[in-house]
Amino acid sequence: MQTDLVAALDIGGTKIAGALVDGHGRILVRAQRPTPAQEDGDTVMLAVEEVLGELTSTPLWSGATAVGIGSAGPVDASAGTVSPVNVPGWRDFPLVERVRAVTGGLPVELIGDGVAITAAEHWQGAARGHDNALCMVVSTGVGGGLVLGGKLHPGPTGNAGHIGHISVQLDGDPCPCGARGCVERIASGPNIARRALDNGWRPGPDGESSAAAVAAAARAGDPVAVASFERAAQALAAGIAATATLVEIDIAVIGGGVAGAGDILFAPLRSALKNYATLSFVQHLTVTPAVMGTDAGLVGAAAAALAGRPSTPVAGVG
Ligand SMILES: [Zn+2]
Repeated sequence: MQTDLVAALDIGGTKIAGALVDGHGRILVRAQRPTPAQEDGDTVMLAVEEVLGELTSTPLWSGATAVGIGSAGPVDASAGTVSPVNVPGWRDFPLVERVRAVTGGLPVELIGDGVAITAAEHWQGAARGHDNALCMVVSTGVGGGLVLGGKLHPGPTGNAGHIGHISVQLDGDPCPCGARGCVERIASGPNIARRALDNGWRPGPDGESSAAAVAAAARAGDPVAVASFERAAQALAAGIAATATLVEIDIAVIGGGVAGAGDILFAPLRSALKNYATLSFVQHLTVTPAVMGTDAGLVGAAAAALAGRPSTPVAGVG
């Protein structure tokens, strides 16, 4: 029997994914449901229970020793509750208690999705072997997490490293979070596309105006598309440099759909970083693409579950 088998949940605004994951980060069983994001809280929970039901009905389940949850935020790991922005039916929803109730009282670890992806990249991915790392997801939003001193650093509520909502433009555009000039307000996919459209870029015959379409135009040499990615890269560079200066990270790992633009994003990002990461102790900071792909949330949730099991002498995931 597997002695290091855990269940993992990755809860987002569009899908709820579940898996049984072994101690090497291998996914042995999967289940998934669409998130009924606009329904009431119990209906959303029903989808989670269906995912868990598929896992608990497999023969492997009897070996599962803990459950890890990576959820869209904000989360409150200390209270065991979640309030995902894109799931209005869940506000201070007692997810940990509800999951524990349907998994036979197994220990449950909750972390934010940015922290989960960080755990995955540190355990199996691009940040492996790095004791001080920032991992980010740049897609519809901008999230992240930190590894400090060789350990995941989720913070008291599970949200530490939320780089998308630090301000890099003091009097910039209002951000939905209530602040101004946040990294996310400049560098997220929708904001890259919006800025390109505002400055005169027009979609091709297929009419697609996503950040991926802007990236394709940039690759073809469209100067407005290039400039929109350069601006996003500048905001990311300022945020990464600030983080490095505060806590001395030596690597920043970037995943998510916008990172899929490759050099269209990474070349101006590395260039801009030289303008912001100036002190001697941050000059050697490297920026690299994430490698864990779409399973990062599940693998990271599993890492949190493994680290949090009562048999492990270290309390919590940190
Ligand atoms: Zn914000």
